Amino acid sequence: MIRRIKGTYDILPEEAEKWQKIEDVMRKVARIFNFKEIRTPIFEASELFHRSVGESSDIVKKETYDFEDRGKRSNTLRPEGTAPIARAVIENKLYADPAQPQKLYYFGPMFRYERPQKGRQRQFHQFGAEIIGSASPLVDVEIINFALTYLKALGIDDVIVKVNSLGDKASKENYIKVLREYLEPNINELCQDCQRRHEENPLRVLDCKVDQKNPILLNAPKPVDYLTDEARYHFDHVVQGLESLQLDFEIDGNLVRGLDYYTHTVFEIQSQSDSLGSQSTLVGGGRYNHLIEELDGPDTPAVGFAFGAERLLLALENSPVLESKSEIHAYFISLDNIFTNEGLKIINDLRMGGILIDYDFLNRSLKAQFKQADRLNAKFYLIYGEKEAKEGIINVKDSETGEQVPVKIDDLYDYLLKQLKGGSCSNGCSGC
Ligand code: AMP
Repeated sequence: MIRRIKGTYDILPEEAEKWQKIEDVMRKVARIFNFKEIRTPIFEASELFHRSVGESSDIVKKETYDFEDRGKRSNTLRPEGTAPIARAVIENKLYADPAQPQKLYYFGPMFRYERPQKGRQRQFHQFGAEIIGSASPLVDVEIINFALTYLKALGIDDVIVKVNSLGDKASKENYIKVLREYLEPNINELCQDCQRRHEENPLRVLDCKVDQKNPILLNAPKPVDYLTDEARYHFDHVVQGLESLQLDFEIDGNLVRGLDYYTHTVFEIQSQSDSLGSQSTLVGGGRYNHLIEELDGPDTPAVGFAFGAERLLLALENSPVLESKSEIHAYFISLDNIFTNEGLKIINDLRMGGILIDYDFLNRSLKAQFKQADRLNAKFYLIYGEKEAKEGIINVKDSETGEQVPVKIDDLYDYLLKQLKGGSCSNGCSGC
C-alpha cells in the first residue's frame, strides 16, 4: 500500500469543515481590515529563499524541500509566504500602485523538512498578512491588531502577545556586536546550535529553545537598549498605539524571531491552551524594511505576520466555534424506478432553488434509504413513487416530528422553503 509521506496528512471531510470555518472567519476579518488576497506559486527559484530568509536560518540550512527541474534549475517548495510576496510585489510592480500601502493576505500550504510532532508538520498551512509601502508605526499596530482581532473572532482569547524591537540596520549591527562580545566568554556553556549561531548570527542565540532558561541568555543585553533615536521613536509609537487600542501585551527583550530579514518590531502571539504542548506560538511576525530592496526592488518598508493554521485548530480543539453538525434539507426516497418518473427532475429543480438535497445511488431498500437520510441528518424525507407521480404529489415527512403531508409537486419548493425558514440550519444557505 502506498502511504502518505511522513509529516503530511489528509484533511478528511469532517475536518475540512473546520478548515472552512477558520478560513471563512479569516476572509471576513481581512475584509473588515481591508486586506486583499494574493496567491503566489507553491514553488519558487531556490535563490529567493536563500537571499531572503537567510543562509544561516534553520529553514534554509536544513529544512527546505529543494528539487532540480528538468531544465536543471533549482526550485524550492515555499517554506514561508513573505519572500514569495516580496518577489510578487517587485515583479508585478505593486509598489507603484497608487493605492499605498498594499494590504495583502494569503493562505496556503508551506513545506519544511522538520521533525514531525504535534503542531509541527512537513506540509503545514499558514494564513499570513503583509502591509507593504509604509514605514509608519501605525501599520505595525494595524498588523498586530488584525492578528488579535482574528483570534478574538475565533473565540481564542487566552493568549499572550509579546513584542520587541530589533531596531533599524544601525541599531541591529551595533547590538549584534555587543551581544557577540557578551556571549564570547560563555559560549562553551551553550548548546551546540548556539555555538554555531554565535558565529553566524548571534541574534538567533536569544531565540534558542534549548537554552531558553539559561541565565546567560536571560541576562544577555537586550536589543531595545541599543536602539538609535529613530528606532526608539518608532518602537515608542508602536507601544503607544497598542496601548491606545487597550490591547494586552508584554515587551519581551529576548524575542528575536528566526528569520534574518526582520528589523524594528517583532512580535509573537502564544496560546495558553494545554492542547498545543510545546508548540504554543500561534502567530509570529514583524517588520522587514529592507527585504524588498535586498531582492532588487525599490526601497519599500513592510510589516507582516503568519499564523500556523494547524496550531489554530489545535487551540480550538473542543471549542464550540468549530462544532457544527452537517445537515441537509431533504433526502429523496424513491419507491420505484427513479429513471422512469420525474424524480431526477424534481431533485434538480429543488437544487436550482438552493435546497440541499441528496438521494440514493446504491439501489438501497426503502428501509436503507431512510437510514441513509438519517446519517446525512436530513430534515425532510421526500417520499415518491409511481402512485405519487400519477397523482402529481410527493409525501413530505418531517424527520423530527414524524408528521407526513402530501404536497403538490408544483407547490413543493415553496412548501419546503416555508418549513425551513422556521427552523435552523448550520449550512448558512438562503433557504433557511
Ligand atoms: P514562522 O514562519 O517560522 O515565523 O512561523 C509562523 C507560524 O507558522 C508559527 O507560529 C506556527 O504557528 C506555524 N508553523 C511554523 N512551522 C510549522 C510547522 N512545521 N508545522 C506547523 N506549523 C508551523
